[in-house]
Amino acid sequence: MKVIVADQAGVCFGVKRALNLVNAEAEKCEGLATLGPLIHNPQVVQDLEQKGVRVVKSVGDVQCGVIVMPSHGVPRDVMKAAENAGLKIVDAACPFVENVHCKVETLAAEGYMVVVVGDAGHSEVKAIKNAAGENSVVISSLEDAQSVDWSGKKVGIVSQTTQTPERFGEVVGLIASQAKEVVAYNTICYATHDRQSAARELAPQVEAMFVVGGRNSANTNRLAEICRESGVPTYHIETSSEIQPDWVNGMETVGLTAGASTPEWIIEEVKKRLEEL
Ligand code: SF4
Repeated sequence: MKVIVADQAGVCFGVKRALNLVNAEAEKCEGLATLGPLIHNPQVVQDLEQKGVRVVKSVGDVQCGVIVMPSHGVPRDVMKAAENAGLKIVDAACPFVENVHCKVETLAAEGYMVVVVGDAGHSEVKAIKNAAGENSVVISSLEDAQSVDWSGKKVGIVSQTTQTPERFGEVVGLIASQAKEVVAYNTICYATHDRQSAARELAPQVEAMFVVGGRNSANTNRLAEICRESGVPTYHIETSSEIQPDWVNGMETVGLTAGASTPEWIIEEVKKRLEEL
């Protein structure tokens, strides 16, 4: 079977940077810990654990005096707690995520009610909301936006870095039609944008799409949504072992894309397995 890999797929700048930081630090520090998973890919996190990099739930669980903050950022108070505990902090937060924190802090200081367009339970969104302070809200969908009375409000809007521009645009449009004043920053990162565009272009050309990446990865879930919207059968998998041969029965060409935290070796394994079928 022919497998076409999307032009843009797999590990992004921010994830590469985070992995480089951790690998360099792991050589110097035995028992290095990351606060939560470094990136949203369970296989990579497992691989790091095998190299001795532990995942801890709180600053208090750190043993070797060094803590790595994850690529999707942490709330400011968590950073403060690590400083107060006297830990050396390796901040692997992606600069694009940091940029969103700066934007919401500025908006909040200027008196805007901050809206974060994103998934309420996602750690990146929780940290952004924390940086925005009390006068902020997370909006996950157009329906969410419709349930708020925006009239007379001064609203500053940002996006989770991994949202789709369509969802961001519809929420901004609705709020702008009701609020007194709106400032909106499209903070979707270029890696997300490029992977989404490539998936959107590839999906209609193939008989099925395979989207590879962590089930806890927001950007991978968005890629799967985009592929499903194009109408082709779409399979979101983490590894090649999940592939069922009957998914591709009678097919000649399938497409393959991968989230921004999916390493090359997993993409290659999936490609190879599909080609064998
Ligand atoms: S997906 Fe974007 S924001 Fe997230 S780590 Fe990659 S480059 Fe940074």
